Amino acid sequence: MKVKNPKPTIGFIGAGNMGLPMVKNLIKKGFQVKVYDINPKITKRLDKDNIKSVNNLRAVANNKFIISILPDTQDVENVFSTDSGINSYLKPGTIVIDMSTISATSASEIGKILQKQQIEFLDAPVSGGVKGALNASLSIMVGGKKDTYKKSLDILNAIGENIIYAGRLGMGQVFKMCNQIMVGSHIQAMCEAFALCKSKGGDLKLLKETLIGSSANSWMLENLGNDVIDKNEHAGFRIDLQLKDLKLASEAAFEGGVPLPGLSLVLALYLEAKAHNEGKNGNQSLFKTYDRMSNQK
Ligand code: NAD
Repeated sequence: MKVKNPKPTIGFIGAGNMGLPMVKNLIKKGFQVKVYDINPKITKRLDKDNIKSVNNLRAVANNKFIISILPDTQDVENVFSTDSGINSYLKPGTIVIDMSTISATSASEIGKILQKQQIEFLDAPVSGGVKGALNASLSIMVGGKKDTYKKSLDILNAIGENIIYAGRLGMGQVFKMCNQIMVGSHIQAMCEAFALCKSKGGDLKLLKETLIGSSANSWMLENLGNDVIDKNEHAGFRIDLQLKDLKLASEAAFEGGVPLPGLSLVLALYLEAKAHNEGKNGNQSLFKTYDRMSNQK
């Protein structure tokens, strides 16, 4: 018997910290997924998990939907706006959803390039970290044509919980930048409060519980507060990625002529962390910047 409206197949590009759990959730929800990652070590891991992988971009092109989640703007441009990328293999009618956090301007440019080939494009960056990717509870901020968004909802609902249509192409990235400005500021505020408490010999665990119940509470305090107290540098979301996002927000602010002094301060603190080789450590490792500045251990 013929199955009515079978789920579309998905070509997936980039199976890193975020991509791999997203792929697993899509498969769990009944989608067929073919994955390409440039790193052969990742491909081996996919094979071990019985996830269908391919070793070149061309082999993922022949799918109704293409999802990408890559580190930075340049990586996404390499795939969707250079001759060595995937575009010449994509068919008209394909829907490309890029879920990386990249420049809003670049997302709009990529959309225009693809539109010339009658390929639809959404910028759909995510928030919620690796935990959100594992639990399929990501927030997804989508820019592009509303009609394309509606056609993609089934897929987005398989990997996220809070799916927001943000507006025109590039607006997903703008919303994500705003998210990252607040993420950086909240981590900075938490590290600052903890640094003061520590200098006075206060009980950090007690402080954390107190602040969770007060008007100072934040997602960062709830999810990363213990890591700061326990000096756990583990990386879900790396300092390098946070720095990249703050840079994107700064560039957008500059383009728009919008002074964002808080963002400049947080950016400087993250640069200090990177200069001390914290780039590969988790976002919360900003506490070490405060330890250095106040000469505390
Ligand atoms: P990651 O480095 O773990 O994964 C990226 C993957 O892309 C890697 O496996 C890499 O090999 C692959 N890749 C790079 N270039 C490629 C190419 N040209 N073709 C195919 N594969 C390629 O990064 P991540 O943590 O998964 O983050 C991905 C994106 O999601 C970033 O833009 C990041 O800012 C965003 N993000 C990450 C988190 C998080 O908590 N890690 C949270 C929200 C958003």
